[in-house]
Parts: sequence; C-alpha cells; structure tokens
Amino acid sequence: MAGRILIADDVTTNRIILKVKLSSACYDVLQAESGADALALARREKPDLILLDLMMSGMNGIEVCRRLKACSATDDIPVIIITAVHDEQLKLRALRAGADDFLTKPVSEALLLARVRNLLRTRDTNDELRLHDGTEPRMTEQELGFAEPMAGFARPCNIVLVARSEEIARQWQQGLKGRIAGEIRIVPRSAALTVTDSDPAPDIFVLEGGTGTADDGIYLISELRSRAHTRHAAIIVILPAPDPGRESHEPWAATALDLGACDILSNGFGAEELALRLERQIARKHRADQLRETLRNGLRLAVTDPLTGLHNRRYAMARLARIARQAHDTDSPFALMLLDLDRFKMVNDIHGHSAGDAVLREVACRLRQGIRRVDLLARIGGEEFLVVMPDTDLGTARKTAERLRRRIVEQPVRIPADGQELFVSLSIGVALGGGREHDLSVTEVMEQADRALYAAKSDGRNQVNIGRSAA
Ligand code: GH3
Ligand code: MG
Ligand code: MG
Repeated sequence: MAGRILIADDVTTNRIILKVKLSSACYDVLQAESGADALALARREKPDLILLDLMMSGMNGIEVCRRLKACSATDDIPVIIITAVHDEQLKLRALRAGADDFLTKPVSEALLLARVRNLLRTRDTNDELRLHDGTEPRMTEQELGFAEPMAGFARPCNIVLVARSEEIARQWQQGLKGRIAGEIRIVPRSAALTVTDSDPAPDIFVLEGGTGTADDGIYLISELRSRAHTRHAAIIVILPAPDPGRESHEPWAATALDLGACDILSNGFGAEELALRLERQIARKHRADQLRETLRNGLRLAVTDPLTGLHNRRYAMARLARIARQAHDTDSPFALMLLDLDRFKMVNDIHGHSAGDAVLREVACRLRQGIRRVDLLARIGGEEFLVVMPDTDLGTARKTAERLRRRIVEQPVRIPADGQELFVSLSIGVALGGGREHDLSVTEVMEQADRALYAAKSDGRNQVNIGRSAA
C-alpha cells in the first residue's frame, strides 16, 4: 500500500484538487473540513502523512500541527502545511510548530508528490528498524526490553557545508553560529566525496543546489547516498530564491528529494530556517542511529549465550555451514570437536547451581584462550561446547584437543562465592570434514564427533577420542 494521507482544508475545491493529485498516485485519501476534525481523524485513523491548510476557520494549520506533535498518538506523523500566500515569518512559525515542510499554492504536483514520497520513505525506514510491519502497534525499544538510550550522551553533531564558493559557505557558517550546537566544517565541492573517510562520519551535509551549472549538486546527492561512510547522513539542500525570469527550481527539487535529499530550503539561505530544519534532521538522524544500534545489539543478543558470552547454537550452526562450504571450495579439511564436561550434574548437586554456572564461565574462558582467533567456539548445550577449526588436519586437531583437555583438568576452578576450588574435566570427540578425503555433510561430521565423544565417555571420561573415518 502506498500510504494513507489526511488532507485538512476548509474549502471543498482545495481538498478535491489535492485528492485528485494524490489518488492518481495511488494514495488513500482521508478528508477533514476543519482543524478540530483533522485532530480527531488523525488520532482515530493514524494516517501516514497529514497535509494541513494554513488558514482554516476555527483552528489554523499551525495550531493543529502543534497539537498533533504534542500528542504521543500522533507526534510521529509527518506534517506538511500548505498556504496560499508565502510569508517567511509564517513559515518559521510552522517549522517551529513541528511541520516538516511548508508549501505555497499553487503546489506543483511533481514537487508535492516527491515530498510525500520522501517523508513516507523516512517513516518506512524507521519502521523497518523497529521491526514494525504495519499491522501491529509501534512498540518502543524500551517496551521490547532493550536498554533505554542513554540521554545526555548524544554524540556531538558533525555538519559539513558544501557550497559553490567558500565565501557562501562562510556566510552559512556565520549564520548558524550560536543557533546550532556541533562541529561545522566547510568542504569544497571537489572534496565532498573524499574528505569523509578519515574523519568521523558526518551527520549532515548542507549542499548548495540548483546553481544552473553542469555540476549542480544532483550527482553529489546520489554519490553521498551510495557510499558506506555517508549513506546514513542527512542531506539538506539550499536552493536559490525563485527568480521570475528564470526556470523554476521545482523539478530539480523533486529529483533531489527522490535521490535522497532529506530537506530543501527552496527560498535561498535563511539562517533561522536552516537552523530549524537542521535541528529536525539532527534529531531524526540520532534517532535512526540509535535504532540501528538497538537492532545491532538485538542481533548480537540473539546469537550470544548470556551465561558465558560465547556464541550460541543458532550462530554456531550457521558459521559451521559456512566453514564447511569454504572447506569444500578450497579442498582443505576442517576439524570439529564436541566437548562435554564430565559428571557435571554432580557439581550442581554437591556445590549448587551457581557454582555450576561459575564452572561453565571459567571453562568457556579457558577454551577461548586455548584456540586461534579464526576458530569457532560456541556453547551448544548445557555443558556441551563446540569448536570448529578451519584449515586444520587431524594431527593439529588432536594436539589442540589434548591441550584443551589439559587446560581444564590441570587447574582447579575457583568458585567466587565461597573461594572453593573444584577440579573438573571434560571429554572430547573429534571429527574431520572438508577436503577430498573427508567430504561428509555437516550433519555427518557432527554425528561422527558425537559418536567419538560417547566413546570417550564410556572409555572412562577425561580423554580425547577421534571419530572413526577420520582416524
Ligand atoms: P557425563 O559425564 O556423562 O556428561 O555426565 P553429566 O552429569 O555431565 O551429564 P548429564 O547430561 O547427566 O548432566 C548435565 C548436567 O548439566 C545437568 C544439568 O543440571 C547441568 N546443566 C546444564 N546446563 C546448566 C547450566 O546452565 N548451569 C548449571 N549450573 N548446570 C547446567
Ligand atoms: Mg556432561
Ligand atoms: Mg551433556
């Protein structure tokens, strides 16, 4: 579905004109005849975007916008305010009230639709980061049990100004002084794409666009969007004030929005307007950064065993499959070990579950220190671990397994709670996979190691056993 848009205007013809434009682009349109109506509909229907007429009898568009932004049920719906007469002061008031944009009638269809697409896309991206599929209510990260973002630790903001000339960029910088917190750098156009790798990733680019030259900034927007270091940065474009004798900048602006510009000052540079729009984009960027971080942490948690910090079975099986594939492709063997603590149930029974936990943590730590960085180590069951060693032959695997066994059995584990020292041991089953000689499926290699482990157990425990076809 393209999205649902609420139009609020007290003049029927105006609503119809907008509805025709939006419906032809397949948006679902809701209509409100007054500000109060718009507020009620917004709360009830939760549209994806709201277009507000500025002058409405009763409650004007700016007041409606202010109230929408003050209510947690509607504060994240993007708002565009539309007006018949252009007025810089009204525009600033609308932006301060939380409006995302301020357009003057007659609104060019291309620009309006580009703006709508742009705002809906931003919202979709945030929804994706929050794993929101459009059917369930949007849950916050806190509600889902993720840590609350640390307030007051927001990274200082990095702003990069790119203008046709240094003089213009200096003028912008001067205008922003005292209005915006953060580091502001001036970068020549020719260096805008190269400066970024060495420095901290920029949060926002402010670009001068539509200058009528061949290199009018469009190319820069798509380049910035495509590079890893700048892909998530916000881009604000400053267009020259419209000149009646010259071509309109609207088509340029529409293209810029579709290519990934986040916001456009369409009437030349105004320090206060730029500061307001920058603040909005900085807040949005930090929010998206936090969501990405939360998602990364969530993914990390999903593949980590909380007790030992090792990888869990889910991760281990995926990594093992990849190691096996590479071993097959490069025709080199890999070694797989299953390690199981001996008589571990007794540790729990005699010393208690938390002593058992302490043993598991210490064993995990010693195993980690006993293998290479390229080897995979995971806790795949209660007291069962897996080690996979890429590019490893049987001799090396046997030696490593023996070394790991000794690391555990030769030093007692100290239980932090009572200072007791416990001796534990483990049994290890080894199997070889990959290479021409051992081209077994992952399941077969696992089964072979499991049989070897079982044999080590029945043979008296605290020993290494090599799987049959590998021996
Ligand atoms: P074997 O030598 O044959 O492997 O004997 P075992 O006692 O180690 O094996 P068994 O499978 O009978 O028991 C495993 C025990 O591991 C039982 C369970 O209580 C304990 N265990 C599993 N997960 C945890 C854990 O997270 N913490 C603690 N403390 N114990 C655990
Ligand atoms: Mg055991
Ligand atoms: Mg077991």
